Amino acid sequence: MAFPSDLQIARAASLKPIEDVAGEMGIGAHLVEQHGRDVLKIRLEAIEELADRPKAKYVVVSAVTPTPLGEGKTTTTVGLGQAMKHIGRRATVAIRQPSMGPTFGIKGGAAGGGYAQVVPMELLNLHLTGDFHAVTAAHNMLSALLDNHLFQGNAAGLDPHGITWRRVLDVNDRVLRNVIVGLGTHTDGIPRQTGFDITAASEVMAIFALARSVREMRERFGRVVVGYTGDGKPVTAEDIGGAGAMTVIMREALKPNLLQTLENTPVLVHAGPFGNIAHGNSSVVADLIGIRGGDFLITEAGFGADMGAERFFNIKCRASGLTPDAAVVVATVRALKAHSGRFKIVAGRPLPDALLAENPDDVHAGAANLRKQIENIRLHGVSPVVAINAFPDDHPSEHAAIREIAEAVGARVAVCRHFAEGGAGATELAEAVAEAADEPTDFRFLYPDSASLREKIEVVATKVYGADGVDYDLRAARQLDRYERNGFGDLPVCIAKTHLSISSDSSLKGAPTGWRMPVREVRASIGAGFIYPICGDMRTMPGLGADPAAHRIDIDENDEIVGLS
Ligand code: ADP
Ligand code: MG
Repeated sequence: MAFPSDLQIARAASLKPIEDVAGEMGIGAHLVEQHGRDVLKIRLEAIEELADRPKAKYVVVSAVTPTPLGEGKTTTTVGLGQAMKHIGRRATVAIRQPSMGPTFGIKGGAAGGGYAQVVPMELLNLHLTGDFHAVTAAHNMLSALLDNHLFQGNAAGLDPHGITWRRVLDVNDRVLRNVIVGLGTHTDGIPRQTGFDITAASEVMAIFALARSVREMRERFGRVVVGYTGDGKPVTAEDIGGAGAMTVIMREALKPNLLQTLENTPVLVHAGPFGNIAHGNSSVVADLIGIRGGDFLITEAGFGADMGAERFFNIKCRASGLTPDAAVVVATVRALKAHSGRFKIVAGRPLPDALLAENPDDVHAGAANLRKQIENIRLHGVSPVVAINAFPDDHPSEHAAIREIAEAVGARVAVCRHFAEGGAGATELAEAVAEAADEPTDFRFLYPDSASLREKIEVVATKVYGADGVDYDLRAARQLDRYERNGFGDLPVCIAKTHLSISSDSSLKGAPTGWRMPVREVRASIGAGFIYPICGDMRTMPGLGADPAAHRIDIDENDEIVGLS
């Protein structure tokens, strides 16, 4: 019999009443708000009320540098959460909410896969409780106030060419990247060129994921820079009277959403910032609640360990005050083979036959990437555990190759089969993570707040990415000088680069050396609290491909959804 689809498996799941799932985390009925039958929002009072409960071990799930197909971080995060119950431990999982742009674009769903999924997956992959719509509304409220500010006389003295705040929508729609607003007569506003980004790329999303309270979210919104005056002074959302309205729109959204896995493990699904121009991690408030919910809190950080995990350590942990106890690095046979440089994997096309043939030497040829990502975890003083995410086409000799590579550098390693077998297939991983988390931790940030912005960029580029140094375009150098002058120099950096290489060139595989990182432009998310240098072309509004997932997503004769992978 063919392996069932994710949707078939998800539909056959037996869900626990969601308030019972909350109850197992110590979250009483007075702290939850029901959203439909299977989803709750958790009130933020829970952070205070649960503060006396024991603190869970905090585990971040990262990966080798992925292929365009993804190597199974979400699936492994969910599978590991399920597996903890099989070894007699209680876990909570915390992940991002998927963006509908990619869901209907290339990716399909993002609720895990096989027998390691979050349910109901249809809700998770679509609107859930509307948080993304709230982000869109809050962001565009500020855009409307900004254009009205210009129309009403521009008291703040904004330079119309110095406006940095755009508009957002949760859809992949390339024609919106550049638009002209304000066409018509003089009553229709001031014409100017601007554009749309996808909602996941909104600074409102990044703030929502980092704020610890409604009050702090309000303060961060106030600090958002919407543009600059003619002489280079920042104009903020507070200056144009937008921060209060944005907070009111976002107030309900800041309550984390609770769902469950196929095996009834609690799953907090909250916020979904982009992984390249933003920090790519789920919300701090969800983690502040989840850290009191059991023995382990397991959270996923976007892309490879050089990207999501680096930002998890240096941006998210800075904002939350929480410190990790262990980090999982998901590795796959296909990714390591791709890092040999001998194969090209293209999304939407079948894997090349030569890659599928049994060949542990090809796995060894890509080993440098896994070794470097293990080192990137250790740079932060955290114990790495390599999770070999087993795919049906893998050969045991190839798993053995990954095991050898990890053991040679002294990392714990486990083969896991949660996709095919559920939590029972990942107990070796659960044991290894529990052991690693019991070791004393020596967590450290990569750089102090007081380092200059250039020092911060250079330490990430050389230590984490393996660059020889950084080259700044004239524009980037001027922007850095301006940010330092404006008092933003103590913020961490979030380097926007490709996720398909540890370097800033997506075609370089393995662990590239002998290259310099070019910085073409540097932007600032002052409300979110980071400066983001841009290396290469960063798309903040994706487009749809020739055959988008939307073509296959539909309802069947019973009005049930089909095609959501
Ligand atoms: P990431 O979070 O790293 O992007 P996902 O967990 O979303 O990766 O997995 C990417 C895709 O691969 C999903 O379609 C998922 O169902 C599939 N997948 C993950 N692990 C396995 C596995 N072990 N066997 C088969 N398919 C898998
Ligand atoms: Mg994922």
